Amino acid sequence: MFKHDSLTWPNPDELRKDMEEFFSRKYGDKVRLGILTTQPDQARTADEGTETEESQLDLKFDHLPRDIKNYLDRFVIKQDNAKKVLATAICDHYNHITRCSNKERCREYSKQNIIMLGPTGVGKTYLVRTIADLIGVPFVKADATKFSETGYVGGDVEDLVRELVHKADGNIQLAEYGIIYLDEIDKIATPSNIIGRDVSGGGVQRGLLKLMEETEVSLRTPFDLTSQLQAAMEFQTKGKVSRSVINTRHILFIVSGAFNGLFDIIQKRMGAKAIGFLSSGGRAAIHEDYLPFVKSVDFIQYGFESEFVGRLPVVVSCHQLGVDDLYEILRHSEGSIIRQYTQAFEAYGIEIVFTDEGLHRLAEKAHQEQTGARSLVSVCERTFREFKYQLPHSPVRKLVVTPELVDSPEVVLEGILAEGNANEILVLESSARETAEKWSRRSGIEISLHPEAARLLAQKALDSGKKLDEVFSDTFRDYEHGFNLIKTRGINRFEITRDVVENPAGALENWIRAYYIQNPSEERR
Ligand code: ADP
Repeated sequence: MFKHDSLTWPNPDELRKDMEEFFSRKYGDKVRLGILTTQPDQARTADEGTETEESQLDLKFDHLPRDIKNYLDRFVIKQDNAKKVLATAICDHYNHITRCSNKERCREYSKQNIIMLGPTGVGKTYLVRTIADLIGVPFVKADATKFSETGYVGGDVEDLVRELVHKADGNIQLAEYGIIYLDEIDKIATPSNIIGRDVSGGGVQRGLLKLMEETEVSLRTPFDLTSQLQAAMEFQTKGKVSRSVINTRHILFIVSGAFNGLFDIIQKRMGAKAIGFLSSGGRAAIHEDYLPFVKSVDFIQYGFESEFVGRLPVVVSCHQLGVDDLYEILRHSEGSIIRQYTQAFEAYGIEIVFTDEGLHRLAEKAHQEQTGARSLVSVCERTFREFKYQLPHSPVRKLVVTPELVDSPEVVLEGILAEGNANEILVLESSARETAEKWSRRSGIEISLHPEAARLLAQKALDSGKKLDEVFSDTFRDYEHGFNLIKTRGINRFEITRDVVENPAGALENWIRAYYIQNPSEERR
């Protein structure tokens, strides 16, 4: 049995030795694993034969800051200042790197890494993701809290860079122009005045710092056997392996967080000036009013290392979203969740119409949850869940979203289902009458369908989901023959009452029997 305790994980060199032994036992000296490496530098030596493969990536970047802002306006509501600052920083960054050839290092340039401040769910990630889509570069998002200093307990910050390659479908050059977005960066601050706080934050900051500056990250980690084996096979067949390092020089880093408490630091630093600024607004200042005044010293005070802060020259602050903003997101954003609902209902042939008041009520409900626009998704899900389940089976083909519907979805659903059924019953009753008329013409017997019988047939069709004429022919399956029998005796009228629909076979039998009892001579003939 496999025993965990007794297993000591080999170091990469031991692993290589073990594998070499295994391969040489199995395949003799035909296969060599000389390519297995433990250091990025060694990996590069092995990559020497691949220099020619390293074509220059043709990343076209011809956007202007205002175009980017206009594009963002289609998706992201509010955050105008954040959009401007971001758009400008992005243009600077990509203009710079597309002008720099591979050979030219452009060292004098300081990368425009960005720090974004603002509460949760206000569009920080959405802004960056939308920009990455626009310019066609890979985008990776992670929470800073998932990393640990050593990379053993949590993930390794270098995994982010490898993930970029994955997102770029293995295109290393494209990955080198990608964007890494790290949320919850405020959680790795290590303020000197707070004793007992997780000390690994500083280590993670240093790990990130290395990536933000410039480093080469090996794509084949020593512990990733699959990639090591792939490299070995490639080397065996082609005599060389494809590039296995990625340079972080041009990767744009964007970090973000809510930064609760930063407000106090800024306020304290600004002192009297803050008081002046407070009174000029005519209202009590809130946390985010201070964010535009943030300086590097505030971040350092908050618990970031000065080198780390120095690598994040662009500060973007995003604001809390109010009810009207949430309404705007629902009504106007091209990424609005409402579009998903329209399509989802359309798939069942149901038209969903959102009234302005209905949207406003959805926005109000979402706002109460205090998680920005994030709660729009959950509020909509809760509101429409049962409609999505029930309506496709009902005759209802149009759903109007009113404030009443948002407040009490169950009650409204019950009402429209009942109303929808009532309308449908009327339609089905009329089609029952038409079917009876058709049957009359075909059989040569005048069939009179009583209104209660038509109602019952319509109800049966509604309950079973079958078409009315199917219900009709199921119910009167044996009548064709009975009619022929009776027609020969000169009978040419038949009444379908409610009782007949309830017990069609019994009714037919009684009818035929009654006829023969009344006319016994007929039987003898
Ligand atoms: P965070 O600020 O925490 O990064 P996100 O950007 O991830 O929040 O927002 C979550 C979701 O809420 C987005 O995917 C988007 O659908 C919606 N959203 C948030 N803010 C906005 C906004 N300002 N305009 C339009 N949609 C938004």
